[in-house]
Amino acid sequence: MEYELFDTHCHLEMDEYEDDRDDVVERAEAAGVRYIINAGSDMEANLKALSLSGRYSTLYPSVGIHPHDADTLNEATRTRLEELLEDHRIVAIGEIGLDYHYMNSPRETQIEAFKLQIGLAKRHNLPIIIHSRKAKDDTLSILKDEATGMRGVLHCFSGDIEMAKKAMDMGFYISIAGPVTFKNANRLREIVSLIPDDYLLIETDAPYLSPVPMRGRRNEPSFLRYIAEMIAQIRGVTLDDIARITTLNAKRLFRIGELPDEGEVAYRIRNNLYLNITNRCTNRCGFCVRFQTDYVKGHNLRLKREPTLKEIISAIDDPASYKEVVFCGLGEPLLRLDVVKEVARWVKDRGGRVRINTNGHGNMINQRNILPELCGIIDSISISLDAEDRDKYERICRPVFKDAFDGVISFIKEAKRYIPDVNITVVDIPEIDIERCKALARELGVGLRVRRFNVVG
Ligand code: SF4
Repeated sequence: MEYELFDTHCHLEMDEYEDDRDDVVERAEAAGVRYIINAGSDMEANLKALSLSGRYSTLYPSVGIHPHDADTLNEATRTRLEELLEDHRIVAIGEIGLDYHYMNSPRETQIEAFKLQIGLAKRHNLPIIIHSRKAKDDTLSILKDEATGMRGVLHCFSGDIEMAKKAMDMGFYISIAGPVTFKNANRLREIVSLIPDDYLLIETDAPYLSPVPMRGRRNEPSFLRYIAEMIAQIRGVTLDDIARITTLNAKRLFRIGELPDEGEVAYRIRNNLYLNITNRCTNRCGFCVRFQTDYVKGHNLRLKREPTLKEIISAIDDPASYKEVVFCGLGEPLLRLDVVKEVARWVKDRGGRVRINTNGHGNMINQRNILPELCGIIDSISISLDAEDRDKYERICRPVFKDAFDGVISFIKEAKRYIPDVNITVVDIPEIDIERCKALARELGVGLRVRRFNVVG
């Protein structure tokens, strides 16, 4: 199995696993689940989770008092929690939060316990795992007042898109559990389609909420794959992609495991191979992911140095085994025109198909018309336009060249003469008038693809 999954929330300390816990953990490993967070909910569960983490190397304990039990968080429990936190195996505080659906503890008591445990997490520099049910406004306002700058996750997310956006704006992750697979979960599936890669986590919340097709049975971490598969389907990527993205996010949140240190030259998304040959660019678009993160779909693209021709070719392996080999990384590939041409020729000679994703500055960068040089070696070109007129292009893309918008338009016109498939792309940010971009594409006689903000590849 190539992929690694990370179950960010379950309760393997519960009695439901008393008879077969070893088998459950073994099945999880066999299903690719390499990391499991066991979230505590009361003091007994916290202690048991800690002891289980000594037995299973894939299990990491989080401790906390669930809102249902908020009224048990007295002075003695609090002192005990403080003592437990001396144990370096604990990776988070949780699950903590608010549950106004069951109201097993009074509202004010839940709020007090939530705030108190956020304070504990802050003092111990640990992330928080948040349970929030029918308590959107209080959850968000407490997070804003008490947890700004902290790391954390809204587990088993059941809120609306506004709640998800506000939580993500504060830096919190959104974790998706089994309900995403349920027949009547269209609203949750829509939310899942909108969460940027950098904020997405997955969990089973076992033994609860078994995903389809295991619904009705006791849940366990080995069922995480069904949740990942559904999310992959919703987002139009593969299970491997979702595994890579969510495992990387969880490792960063809980500071578990190793992160890729070296930027990748060739990286796979769906069945395309992408080539990241430079991190330089002649635009400085306000929305560009390279100013926000090193990662794209779980791949580290921050290069320590630009790869040589030989290194790029050896990273490709068999070009014919991919749908397309695409020049697309955290930078503008046509800044390295000679390398692009050599690699493209090498790919074509071996039966591969080549696409370039470019900002359309190739002629301005190289100070000549380079399109005839790409004829026969490039099958397809996607040119970012990202504005419907000159002024807006200057404001949004902040190009280094003068009259860059006109330069991109003439690059598009010229590309049509030499490359079989020419498309322009625009990002769906409110500043851009998509309808006018569509009209411009029609006028130029090329296709137009609207790219989701923060989505690469
Ligand atoms: S053209 Fe692409 S790589 Fe360059 S700054 Fe804009 S979004 Fe980033």
